[in-house]
Order: sequence, then structure tokens, then C-alpha cells
Amino acid sequence: MNTGDASYIKKMNRRILIEETIQNVSLSRSDLARITGLNKATVSTQISDLLNDHIVTEIRERESNTRGRKPILLEINGQAGYSIGIDIDDNSINVIFINLKGNPIKKMQIPVISNNLEQVIDSIIKRLSPSILKHNSMYQPIGLIGIGIGIHGIVNNDDEIIFTPKHNWSNVEITSKLEKAFQTKVFVDNNANLCAFAEQVYDEHIPDLFCVTLYSGIGLGIISKNEIYRGYHGFAGEIGHMIVETDGLHCSCGNKGCWELYASEKALKNRISNSFPTATSCNGFEELLRDHKFDSIIDHYIHYLAAGLNNIINIFNPEELILNGTMIKSGSPITERIHQKLKSKINNYREIRASNIRGNACALGGAVFALKQFFQIDTMNLVPYDYLNSKVLT
Ligand SMILES: [Zn+2]
Repeated sequence: MNTGDASYIKKMNRRILIEETIQNVSLSRSDLARITGLNKATVSTQISDLLNDHIVTEIRERESNTRGRKPILLEINGQAGYSIGIDIDDNSINVIFINLKGNPIKKMQIPVISNNLEQVIDSIIKRLSPSILKHNSMYQPIGLIGIGIGIHGIVNNDDEIIFTPKHNWSNVEITSKLEKAFQTKVFVDNNANLCAFAEQVYDEHIPDLFCVTLYSGIGLGIISKNEIYRGYHGFAGEIGHMIVETDGLHCSCGNKGCWELYASEKALKNRISNSFPTATSCNGFEELLRDHKFDSIIDHYIHYLAAGLNNIINIFNPEELILNGTMIKSGSPITERIHQKLKSKINNYREIRASNIRGNACALGGAVFALKQFFQIDTMNLVPYDYLNSKVLT
């Protein structure tokens, strides 16, 4: 075996041990050897390195079943560092800090007061700097390990923003100024991609997963073999511009009859306000379903939503299709109405359901993407940390 091979294997073993430690919350060295199949000496050497690097820490909490010493358990060193996820939405910026274990430790909102990109970047730097300073002293010795940013638009594989419909940003990059200001690595991705990644990491640990975001536009985040699928140059998942009416409504993309003009939440809200100008609130489907005056609008919406989902299902044969929006809540009867519309004999999927992490998905996805890059691992499974039942600190 030459040196190159030895170094590769060392790196691979380190990755496996980090992945198992994250997934199992806390384990002894013998547990890790048994689960991974690595010999005890290798585990011991690697853990020693991970302790020196402050990636893992030792705890003595669990009582041993037998007399004698309590076993020393290992877990990810949550207090050693943190990452940040930023979701730059149309009107506000949602920010979530997570520690190295993936637990949310801070959440904040920054209003978007201008469409000017420089001003948006400056306001992010101004508002985040005091919190970063504070958390850098609280989460030591590593501190901030990276920032993941979600953009509601097209982002290429080089982290450059190609186009955002709302703010009209085109062919710009935002990483260099933020990296200089915060002295950390900054990643940029499409919001639907980060939402899908957060679903996989926090709530549904399967290697292939699809998440449809239904906000002002419609996006599709694809996780394939534990990786975000981006296509040839990063444009994959622009499913909102799938044509569902060949001679339909004009879209800003230049085509007619794009799916998001019929099945996004913005499209639904526009139809409601056009038909019922006095209907002021539209917080969720439960509210709309209670009032039968909205029946035909809901039927029209579900008709188009199901048509697009039918196409996604037939292209990908997804195991799990998660719908993320402000109006679709977990357990909503809307998902049953969608199932009823998907009657084709070749529609094959295990489940379509609403997201449990909803509006936090994109920022969580950004934060955990930065964490995955820092750990240099292939898979992250934070389901055991039970994020959904834990409180996000403010
Ligand atoms: Zn379009």
C-alpha cells in the first residue's frame, strides 16, 4: 500500500466514524468498532485525532449495567463550533444558527428593505456581525465553520446567482464580500435544493427524496444518493416553468402556461383576491376548506397542482414527495385530495406529504450544508436529535 492509499483510507475511516457518531447521538469506542467493522486500534487512533480537533467530545453519563467504571461515550462536540443558514426570501431574510450537532441555537429575521443586492448584503453583514461575535466567543475553539445561503432563483454550480425573479438579480456573486466580512466559507444554493436537503437530514433519512416548494414560484429540490442533484450546470429543478397549458397564461420566463402560474401559493392567493376582493386573510387550506365559497378555486388549484405532481412522479418514481409551503400543513386534508387526483395506473410513489419543518427548511438546509462540508462526510442523519420537538432558541 502506498502513502496515497493510506491517506485516503484514513480520511474514509474518519468520515465513517463522524457519520456514525452523528447518527447515533452518543457511542463508546467499542460501539463504534462494532458498528463500523473497523478494528479497535483504528477507532482509538481516529477518535484521538477527532478529540484533538474538537470534533467529538467524551461524556460519562450512562450507567454501566455491570459493576465497575461507567463507559466513556463519544458525541459530536456541539459546543466547539457552529454554522449559519440564511434564507433570502422576497420580503425577509430568515437566519438560523446551528451548533456542530445540528441543533438550532439561534433564529433571527432580517427585513428586506431594498431590491439592491449590495444593500441586502450590507444589511446581512450589519445585522449578523454582533451575533457572530457573540457566538464566536460562546462556541469555541472552532467558532463559525461556514454559512449556507438559499436563493429563491437560479444558482449555478459555481455558487453564482444567475437570476432571481423577485429582486431581478442576474449573473452576480455574493460569496466574496460575505466571506471577507465573516472570515468563513460561504455556500450559495437554490432554496428548493436546501429545503430538500433539510428534509433529508432532519426528518426523513432516505437517500432519494423530492421536495416541491410552493411559495411565490414552484421549485423542486432533488436529493439523489444523499447528494443534491443540480443537473449539468445547476439549473435542475426549475419545475415551476414546466408547461401545463400550451396556450396558457404568459410567464416572465418567456413561455406560456407555466405550472407556477396555476399551482403556486401566489397563484392561489391571486385567484382568491381577484374573485373575493374582501377576503383579507389566506393563512392555510383548513381555513379555505371551511368556507364553501372557495370550493371552485380550491378544485381548480388542486387540479393543476396534481397535474404537475403527476408529471414529477412519472419522471422520477419518487419514494417520498414532500410539499413545502406556508399553506400546506402536516396532516392537511389537502394531501388526500391530491392523492385522489393521482389516479393514473402508472403513478407510483410511497408517500406525498406536507413538510414538518416548513418555513425553517431552507435556512436549516443552508446551515447543515455548511456543516456537511466542514465534516467532509457523505451522509448526515440528524433525525435522532429530534429537532421537530426541540425548541429553537432565540
Ligand atoms: Zn415560466
